[in-house]
Amino acid sequence: MDLRTRTSLFCGVLALAIAASILLRGRLRRAQVLFAALAGDMGLWYLAQWQFHAGRADFWERSTAVLAVLLPQFALHLFDSIVPRVGKPSALLRWAGVLALPMLILVLTEHRHGLVRGAVILYVFGLIAAGLWQLAQRGEHSGSRATQRRVRFLVSIGALAAAFSLADFLWFIGAPLPPVSAVLSIVFLFALSESLIRARLVDLYDILGQLLVSTALAFSLAGIFYVFVVLLGGFETMYLGAILAAIVILVLFEPLRERAETYTHKFFFRERVDLERAVARARRSLVHVLEVKEMQQVALSALEASRRATGAAVYVRDPIGRDFELGASFGPVALPRIELATAHPVFERLDAGGSIAFEEVAHQVAERRRTGRTREVEADERLIASAAVLGPFARGVCLGVYGAERELSAILLIVDDRVEDAFSPDEVGLLESLAVQMGVVVENSRQHRRLQERDRLAALGQMAAGLAHEVKNPLGAIKGAAQLLSDPSDKLDASEREFVGIILEEVERLDRVVGSVLDYARPSKGDLGSIDVNAVVRRTLTVLASDRALGWTVAMDLAEDLPLARADAEQLRQVLINLIRNAMQAMGGNGNVLVSTRLRQERVSVAPNDAPVWVEVSVRDEGPGIAPHVLEKLFVPFFTTKAAGTGLGLAVSQRVVEEMGGRIEVASKPGSGSTFTVVLPRATEPLSVGRSPAEIPAEHGASLSPKPAA
Ligand code: ADP
Repeated sequence: MDLRTRTSLFCGVLALAIAASILLRGRLRRAQVLFAALAGDMGLWYLAQWQFHAGRADFWERSTAVLAVLLPQFALHLFDSIVPRVGKPSALLRWAGVLALPMLILVLTEHRHGLVRGAVILYVFGLIAAGLWQLAQRGEHSGSRATQRRVRFLVSIGALAAAFSLADFLWFIGAPLPPVSAVLSIVFLFALSESLIRARLVDLYDILGQLLVSTALAFSLAGIFYVFVVLLGGFETMYLGAILAAIVILVLFEPLRERAETYTHKFFFRERVDLERAVARARRSLVHVLEVKEMQQVALSALEASRRATGAAVYVRDPIGRDFELGASFGPVALPRIELATAHPVFERLDAGGSIAFEEVAHQVAERRRTGRTREVEADERLIASAAVLGPFARGVCLGVYGAERELSAILLIVDDRVEDAFSPDEVGLLESLAVQMGVVVENSRQHRRLQERDRLAALGQMAAGLAHEVKNPLGAIKGAAQLLSDPSDKLDASEREFVGIILEEVERLDRVVGSVLDYARPSKGDLGSIDVNAVVRRTLTVLASDRALGWTVAMDLAEDLPLARADAEQLRQVLINLIRNAMQAMGGNGNVLVSTRLRQERVSVAPNDAPVWVEVSVRDEGPGIAPHVLEKLFVPFFTTKAAGTGLGLAVSQRVVEEMGGRIEVASKPGSGSTFTVVLPRATEPLSVGRSPAEIPAEHGASLSPKPAA
């Protein structure tokens, strides 16, 4: 068998194998079926040639001609489905269809005649050349640089394969060339099949990588087969050797493939591997980082060291949450801040997708404009226009760094202005994983700060408690003395009486503050029992009705059949008084407060039989709402925005509710009121062992000092 005959055999088998590999994947779409038909046709064509070269039988010669006539039919339809066409079907497809039948009849009746052969060659290569040309045109007008690059690669290989196949016919006139065309056709088929498998066009690097991996695998597997079948066994035990070889191959296939992939990537795709390493290194280091500043340094220096970016910047959301301030950067001079309002489309898109590659969006605009998707085009154009506020990073990649509640805490901008389309989609995915790790650091640092604050407050609380204790006794003595002085039997004149009155008032106020400090520092667990929260609400509102001023109302919306909660009725009442008075003060004494109760359908554990375990009571007002910077410090002791406030009401309430096993939640937006919700655990035992609301004294309790009415 000469080289040409052998090559035909090899390429025929390979083409059929490629066709089968696509068919075996299932879920066949039109493109897959067309591809399988083209590869099958090519495979048979080569096999027919092989037979023809070997035996020169008339049947094989005729088969070669028939298969050749079918070739452009499958090829043109397949090319047509690779880059989606806009508008009506191409004239080329129609012409090819019209020509197919007469050509078939011609080769079936007379295929040896020189003219017929000439016509077939013209028909096959003419149509394939026209098809490739059309594919190239579509690629050029696709608007996406990546698609252009990949189509160019595909068309070049296809054109080379076609040109060498044409040159093969020189063999007829006695000028034999090496059978390069068959090899190129297989590369072309392989590239096409990879494109179909990955649902996107592959380019030179992808295909080179895949070819190398496949070649390395083929050699290793052939080696295994050779050892078992040829070296270890003779002809009689070949079946045993083959089975053993197959088992060994099955076991080794995956690890071998992974190895081959790792090595080819390492040697041929250095850049991608560099980025992969840099991101992995940064992620590993970030695990031990607690400070946002350090996080920025770690992430940026890793990116800089990878040499895959010419610039990067981290912007961190400011405490008010309005803008993003530059934290750290390298490369081009980054703008000091990005305003949320002006870059709104950018943040909106980030929230939807996690990252934006602006160049990719620009390609999409061109593509979508051609397909008439005007609404998406407008949104994309707005996005690109607003990206201008990112300064030198407007053509790079923008990644969102999210906290635990999916709130955007920071953004990472990366640019490489040396090349276009600098980051492929899977590289953007890699960078996203870095952004996710940065989000974890932001969240951890927040928690860490919270814990530190808690420790600080605990120490402060202990100190304050000691101080309050020291103050409480002399305060009692002062109060007693002042009361003695103000005894009506004493002869005090009016102004002296007024001064004693002032002393008594101030002492009482001080006593309340001292009481609050002690409550905060050493909250008592109270008298925990099963209580009816609705009854506590009713009683609280009755008490408050006495000092209700004109201009505001309190409405109740109490859930029926509310289960009992586990709490101390008196303490809950004091918490509610605090919340309602805060609401009232926030509305400036004018507006409506709604107190409502509800069962919360939320489980504490994942156990399927767990009943919902929370009873909640909410206080909603129509006040101005709470600004984000106030919201952050709401429960910090002594934090107040009021001239005469103590800043202890919410701190103490939270402490007390937490001691009861519950929590206080706040929902507020500036301008649209606030809702404070006390969430309490549902009682497990039905009988109340604590005080019932009716037993609670109507006057203000001493353990929790409610604030004076506004
Ligand atoms: P105080 O009322 O003495 O200031 P609090 O701990 O009760 O102390 O409240 C702390 C701060 O929380 C208040 O100063 C106020 O700014 C804010 N606040 C509390 N409740 C509301 C509300 N319903 N609407 C708006 N702001 C509120």
